[in-house]
This record gives sequence, structure tokens and C-alpha cells, in this order.
Amino acid sequence: MTKHIFVTGGVVSSLGKGLTSASIGTLLERHGLKIRMQKLDPYLNVDPGTMNPFQHGEVYVTEDGAETDLDLGHYERFTNTVLTRDSNYTSGSIYESVISKERRGEYLGGTGQGIPHITDEIKAAVAKLATDDVDVVITEIGGTVGDIEGEPFLEAIRQFGQDVGRENVLYIHLTLIPYLKAADEIKTKPTQHSVGRLMEKGIQPGILICRTEKPLAREIREKISLFCNVPLEAVIEELDIKTSIYELPLILRREKVDELILRYLGLDAGEPDLSDWENVAQILANPDREVVIAVVGKYIRLQDSYKSIYEALVHGGIANRARVNLKRVESEDVEKEGAEAILGDVDGVLVPGGFGVRGIEGKLQAVGFARERGVPYFGICLGMQCAVIEFARNVLALKKANSLEFDESTPTPVITLMDQQRNVVDMGGTMRLGAYPCILASGSLAAEAYEASEIRERHRHRYEFNNAYREAYSNKGLAFTGLSPDGRLVEIVEIEKHPWFLAVQFHPEFKSKPHAPHPLFASFVKAAVSRREGDK
Ligand code: GLN
Repeated sequence: MTKHIFVTGGVVSSLGKGLTSASIGTLLERHGLKIRMQKLDPYLNVDPGTMNPFQHGEVYVTEDGAETDLDLGHYERFTNTVLTRDSNYTSGSIYESVISKERRGEYLGGTGQGIPHITDEIKAAVAKLATDDVDVVITEIGGTVGDIEGEPFLEAIRQFGQDVGRENVLYIHLTLIPYLKAADEIKTKPTQHSVGRLMEKGIQPGILICRTEKPLAREIREKISLFCNVPLEAVIEELDIKTSIYELPLILRREKVDELILRYLGLDAGEPDLSDWENVAQILANPDREVVIAVVGKYIRLQDSYKSIYEALVHGGIANRARVNLKRVESEDVEKEGAEAILGDVDGVLVPGGFGVRGIEGKLQAVGFARERGVPYFGICLGMQCAVIEFARNVLALKKANSLEFDESTPTPVITLMDQQRNVVDMGGTMRLGAYPCILASGSLAAEAYEASEIRERHRHRYEFNNAYREAYSNKGLAFTGLSPDGRLVEIVEIEKHPWFLAVQFHPEFKSKPHAPHPLFASFVKAAVSRREGDK
């Protein structure tokens, strides 16, 4: 019988519910259990694919090409769980499915209703992951308890507990215990209200994980336990993390959350081995060296917009026992102040994915600066397209070279639209999405980094390199070192006469983990380290 954990959040958003869920996943997996993870997001978009990064942060792409919430990135970084289309549902996708069933007449003339039709659809989404081989499904509910749009989800997970038996379900509530400076006190009332709200819905949390900046004294824990109807041992302190998010599984282990979960769900499991996590935490706390990497993008203001890129850079640092200090650069500032002023002191430049023309000129200047100065350059998706455009303009002397995305009437579209993308009207879910194979040229930087000749990486873009220009580029030293198996799509370019200049059409950042850093990120950071240490 598969067990279920539901994680809800109270008091405020941004408490790190995704990270906490992922860390619980880590611990259970290390106890030898087979887990699956999913997130249910109450917003109305069918998926986050069409949302602006300022609204939503990064869109995380799964192997099977689903555009999902960025918390799924945490799940993959922290666990070995397989994530698919079934790992992220929204109110939009749930309603879409119910409405299309109604249109097909599947309700046999009945009235379509929130209960049971919407709640049944939600429960089916959860049950789908509970296959025979799975010990525990962890389902995170997006948003905060009390949100109107979250109500059907709470109702559905309450019913789910009834359906499969209360002994098979554990509700974990993540809450905030704020510290009031003026009173020099930490306050439990918001948590009491939040749990009260859950109980009105018929959900009694089994474990309360309390985010706090101050340690929780015993009398505070007792108060929470009393008012929230939770045993004292199940009031867990989750102190603000000092060095890195990768400490969280270790912190929760110290609080014995895993043991509680196993006991409450009646699961027998072995002792966990967390030595690789301890190793990661140790390197991050005491790195041997530091490097500065500039990420030149246009959603720099928001921490979450390039989440997986930032994490993959941290992982690349771990591989080199280096702390990666990020310099988050707004590409429009490069346009205003010039590349030298902004990038003069960095050890590597990365241009990440993106859409639309704003900030493109600044990115091109950043690429040109890195190319000419021999600064390690890593282009990802749009960052590869920019590398291609910059090379055309400044090395091939095609001054008007551009991507069709930014100039539909350019005479030299070095980045173009694939035929199947030309007549797309529906914007949701219609890009080239998910994992595709790629063949690496032997002897290339890419083949050397991956130590492989064939790889699979995830994509999310409409535009592609224009093959009409291949020869012109090769003649001038830009090599195509990664191609689709039929040879028609350019996936990786490199500049041979450069210490480290590599750009990819796919998104390697989605497959990096702290204890298994992505080879390209590890190699890029290594090049940045060499540049810095060579300078001394
Ligand atoms: N806008 C570009 C395209 O659609 C790049 C997309 C990306 O960087 N993810 O091809």
C-alpha cells in the first residue's frame, strides 16, 4: 500500500515549502524508500509555460517536455524521483480536463460540480503516482492555507485521507513563527490561526514544521503543541539556513523528522546514508577558492527567474571546491555602461535563456567582450543564439545578422524558425520541449566534459540555428560540436581558439545536482578558476 504525504503552507508564501518537501524526499529516499513527488498549484494557468518570469520565476522543464513549477527543480536536485507531466497539476489543468469530459458527455447528463467532479479529478492526479512499486508519494500544495483558489485542493486531500485510510496519509504543515523585534518575542498566533483554518476543512496536521529565525524554546513548542493539537515531538523547528539550501536535509534529519514520518506512516526502513550531502555542505561551508561568474540576463531582479542556472553554477563550484560568487547583471546595464565597466572583473560570463528583444544588445556586448578577451563564456539557449548572432556580426561581418525573433525582416537570419513552428497560434506547450538526443564531436570541449559521445538534454525554444550559414561559421573557427542524430539541428557550438567558449541550444541546468554537478557547469567553473588563478 503506497503511503501519502501532503505538504501545505501557512501564514505567508515563500516559506520554502518546495525545499522542505524535497528535503523530506531526500531523507525518505536515503532510508531506502521509493518515492514520487508532485506539486498541485491552485492558479488558473494550465501550466506556468506562458507566464512571465517576473510573475512566476523559472519554468522548469521535465524530461518528457512538461513546463512546470520551479519547485520541481528542487525535487530533481534533491532526489532521484522521476518527474513527468503527472508531477505538476494546476487548477487550470484540472478544470480543463473536467470541462472537456463534460463536453464529451462523460457525466451522462449529470450536473458538473466542484464536489465531486473537481475533487475527483484532483484525487485521480494524486492516485496516479501511487503505483505498486512506490512506497511514498509526496504531494505539495501550492499557495497558502486560506487562499480561495486552494479550497478544492484542501477538500480533495481531506477526502483522499478518508478514501485510502487515515493510517496511510500524513499531513505536514509548514508554517512561520515570526520574531517581533520590538517585543523581542516569537509569536505562535499566526500558526494557531493557520492550523485552525486547516482543521475547519477537516485536516489535522500530523507534523508542524516551523520556520523561524530564533530557536524555539520548549515552552513555545509546548504552546504550539497545545493549541494546534499536535504532539510535542511533532513540532519541528526549521531554523533559517546559514550557508546553503543543501543543508536542509541534514537539519531536518537532526530534528528527526524522518523518524517521525516513518513511525506515523508505519514504515520500516534502514538507516540513511547522508555522507554525500554532508560532503556537499562541508565544501560549501569551507571552499578552497572563489570565482566570480556574471549571469547576464533580463530577469535579474528576481532571484527565482534563473533558479536552476544559479544552482547549477553552485554545483559546478562544488566540483571544483570553489565558491561561485554570482554577479547578477541586468543586460540593459551593459548597454548603458559598457561591457568593460561591468564585466572587467569577472572570471566567467554566462548568458541564460530568454525571450523577446529587450536587453538583447547588452547580451551581445557581453558575448563579444568574453569572446575577444578570452573570458570563459557559457551560452544557454538564447545565450547560444546570442553567441551565433555576435559571431556573425563581428567575425563574419554580417552586420545585420539577427534572429527572426528580434527582427522579422533581417536579410541574414542566422537564427531562424523551424517550419513546424511557423504557423503556431497556441502559445502554451508548443515550443520544442523536453529531452532530445545529441551527438558530440570527438575531441571537442563538450565531448571531453561529458566524457561521452551521445547525450540527452532538455529543450525549450522555438528558434534554431540556420543551416544555410554553417559553412561560413566553420570557415571562421566556430565549430558545431553537438548535432541532432540526423545532423540537421545545431545543439552545441564552440570557438576553438578560445580558452572556453561553449554554447548550447538546450538547458543543461535542469539536470545538475549538488552531488552530481552537470559536466558542462563543472568544466565552465574549472575554466573560470584557471583564469582567476592564472591571473595571480
Ligand atoms: N527565445 C528563444 C527561442 O524561442 C530562446 C528560448 C530560450 O532561451 N529558452 O528559441
